[in-house]
Amino acid sequence: MPEFLGPLPLAEQVAAKILVRQAATIGERVFVAYGSHSVTYREANARANRVANALRALGVKLVGIWCTHHHPDHVGGVEGIVDALGAMPVLGSAYDAREKRIPRQTDAVGEQTTGLTWAGEPVRVLEIPGHTLGAIAYVLGGAVFSGDTLFLAGCGRVFEGTMPQMRASLAKLRALPESTRVYPGHEYTVKNLEFAAQGEPESAAVKARLDDARARRARGEPTVPGVMSDELATNPFLRWQAPTVQQRIGLTEPDAIFAHLRLAKDRGSL
Ligand SMILES: [Zn+2]
Repeated sequence: MPEFLGPLPLAEQVAAKILVRQAATIGERVFVAYGSHSVTYREANARANRVANALRALGVKLVGIWCTHHHPDHVGGVEGIVDALGAMPVLGSAYDAREKRIPRQTDAVGEQTTGLTWAGEPVRVLEIPGHTLGAIAYVLGGAVFSGDTLFLAGCGRVFEGTMPQMRASLAKLRALPESTRVYPGHEYTVKNLEFAAQGEPESAAVKARLDDARARRARGEPTVPGVMSDELATNPFLRWQAPTVQQRIGLTEPDAIFAHLRLAKDRGSL
């Protein structure tokens, strides 16, 4: 059975801040790399050499880079990696291909894409605009790589799309099987759960998950991956139908609830 490694194997092994915050297929494994929060293309490409060296040392061949969206902290290292290791498929959305904003992108993928496989299994691409207009997610092997759209217990900021667009994208992700493992683009889980606790202070599920996330982080462990069933129970940005959420903010219309929560999160409190 294919295996996902992550989220920090390479970062730990090379002690490098890794730049390509997306799934990269390596043989039959997917490495999910997470790095510093803000990084310029120049910094990321400099670090790419360290990643390339680590891959060589591990004896693995990088066979492709799958990008969820164009932000520099997600694709900043692509150029450097391709330069160091040679040409390989670099996947991203059709929107980002048109905008030419993913360096070295070779393939445009979307919901119409067929024939994309990983370890012999079909891969589904979901178009999830909102954080950016070119955002996509990859669904494979019982997992979703959700970029900056769905975080554990949270969601990304709405930069390019509209609030209803973002909510529709989250609805699409929310509809995946409850057993789906969730690999987001950032480790923001503790902060997100602190916000969730403001929205649902009586929720035992939120409290338990917050305790667990804090304990993991204190041990230096990631909270990623999560599982969709926990997201359904504790992520306020997926819970517009929950009576507790509706009562807390005094709204019932889904898009209004989502926008209210997202704006409150941007401000830092509900
Ligand atoms: Zn982003």
